Amino acid sequence: MAVKCLCGAKARVRSTKLLSEQVTNLYCACSDVFCGHTFVITQSFSHSINPAKQASDGAVFELLQNMCEKDRMQLFNRFLSVPAN
Ligand SMILES: [Zn+2]
Repeated sequence: MAVKCLCGAKARVRSTKLLSEQVTNLYCACSDVFCGHTFVITQSFSHSINPAKQASDGAVFELLQNMCEKDRMQLFNRFLSVPAN
């Protein structure tokens, strides 16, 4: 991840501090020795554009796992009768 200082020079992330599962503080230092600015950027997760495959697979598996055997077989049979794209 590229970080820029307010002076326009590149800055390095020196360390990170996890504030929560989706929020992290990045402790940065400007690479321009004449600037010397050190600062903190707060990075947070905003939203998904495409859900992670692992998460959607897990959700489908959990849904199937909670269905009774009869409903699960009906769903599989229904799915198998649909022609593939
Ligand atoms: Zn700077």
